[in-house]
Amino acid sequence: LEENIAKAAGYLNRFRDRDVLNQIGGEAVPALDGETFETVSPVDLKPLGRIAHGKAADINRAAKAAKTAFSAWAAMPGEQRKKLLHRIADAIEARAEEIAFVECMDTGQALRFMSKAALRGAENFRFFADRAPEARDGKTLRAPGQVNMTTRVPIGPVGVITPWNTPFMLSTWKIAPALAAGCTIVHKPAEFSPLTARLLIEIAKEAGLPEGVWNLVNGFGEDAGKALTEHPDIKAIGFVGESRTGSLIMKQGADTLKRVHFELGGKNPVIVFADADLDRAADAAVFMIFSLNGERCTSSSRLLVEEGVYDRFTTMVAEKAKRIKVGHPLDPETVVGPLIHPIHEAKVLEYIAIGRSEGAEVATGGEKLAGPGGGCYVAPTLFTRATNAMRIAQEEIFGPVLTAIPFKDEDEALTLANDVRYGLTGYLWTSDVTRAFRFTDQLEAGMTWVNSENVRHLPTPFGGVKNSGIGRDGGDWSFDFYMETKNIAFAT
Ligand code: NAD
Repeated sequence: LEENIAKAAGYLNRFRDRDVLNQIGGEAVPALDGETFETVSPVDLKPLGRIAHGKAADINRAAKAAKTAFSAWAAMPGEQRKKLLHRIADAIEARAEEIAFVECMDTGQALRFMSKAALRGAENFRFFADRAPEARDGKTLRAPGQVNMTTRVPIGPVGVITPWNTPFMLSTWKIAPALAAGCTIVHKPAEFSPLTARLLIEIAKEAGLPEGVWNLVNGFGEDAGKALTEHPDIKAIGFVGESRTGSLIMKQGADTLKRVHFELGGKNPVIVFADADLDRAADAAVFMIFSLNGERCTSSSRLLVEEGVYDRFTTMVAEKAKRIKVGHPLDPETVVGPLIHPIHEAKVLEYIAIGRSEGAEVATGGEKLAGPGGGCYVAPTLFTRATNAMRIAQEEIFGPVLTAIPFKDEDEALTLANDVRYGLTGYLWTSDVTRAFRFTDQLEAGMTWVNSENVRHLPTPFGGVKNSGIGRDGGDWSFDFYMETKNIAFAT
């Protein structure tokens, strides 16, 4: 740990020495009005750096730069874009340790997950790089006296707005397909964890990305974020964040008829039937709520368990939760690090108080911990004897808090699983294949894993139903969002 802390200090020095700047038209620039804001580490609440505080005027400059760069970037042969994006992936791999260490200190996420997330960022670039040459290809559709040719073209300059939980990986997930499609970008990262967005754009510049193709404006949602969603030159907004922010963005983008893609919140169920492999299910349930501090859109924050095995299963989960290592994010043994910010920590602790007052029982956890550095540490928490009507079962807590609810039979399990506003993911544990087909068909979730934790395969669609999102990422679905499909009909 000491060695890692010393290494991290080395990587973080540059952010202490000088302001973290925006990037517009290929140049690192301060905010036009010279203002900055501070980012603090959730480990010890000490400042990590001062960040350029962009606002509407900075967004306007960035949008103009993205517009100027668009025609040349869109016209560049896909093979060439592919090479450039692979170069970005190479550079991410070369700097993966630096990215992971900075991410840990800026977000509080544990190194064991952030080192993988940095590499996943490179994989995202490679995946979409390889698809860049075919992104424009369409179909031929014949009709009597007519041959129709469909083709796709990039939609134009786009805005990408990302959240604080795993900022590096999520930024690559949105930006790589946009670049592969031929769009130019203005990126507005989350104000709580802006550091790795700076590293990422420097990597892209060094890899040779032309000026203005990718611009970065730091700032808050209500100023820079809002201005980006309202800008007439920005044709679409790829957004990852809270459901209520998605609603705001839809309103803000209405006047300019913005195309939107939303990856929003979740209150995802893990449903455990008595016939499941309970040992594996318990490991997976623990992993899916306590990895990434529970600050994960796909986390399984509701545990629905068949009555006959409810006590046994929740006891297994509580035992495992008690053994989870909570600690410094740079400790290789740590699973749960400090939560992102004191404001968020207060929200999570308030939900724990709400759960108690609603009558749920705390089987383990339920308290703030005095972790290394004195930051925002909260114990992995399991509520038992909860009902689905409780706020802890309905609202996204976005922390290491799991709510366990018993069910009688399949019908009740499905009713409970679907009885929330959200519909991002579901995790089903049963050895009955027929039931698995029946159940997943009716489950209101964009993605379901059967007898598995969340394992991503990049060509598959990623996204949610209900209040969890609009649109899909992954494979060709990403290109559908960042491109316009045109039909040209030839008379024969
Ligand atoms: P948030 O909605 O508060 O902020 C996300 C981003 O939106 C930030 O960059 C913020 O500055 C910006 N923003 C805020 N108000 C805005 C406005 N009016 N106009 C434009 N931009 C605005 O979300 P958060 O707290 O940073 O992240 C946590 C949320 O993200 C959780 O709800 C989580 O489930 C969700 N999330 C979803 C996915 C997914 O794939 N579905 C992935 C990760 C996180």
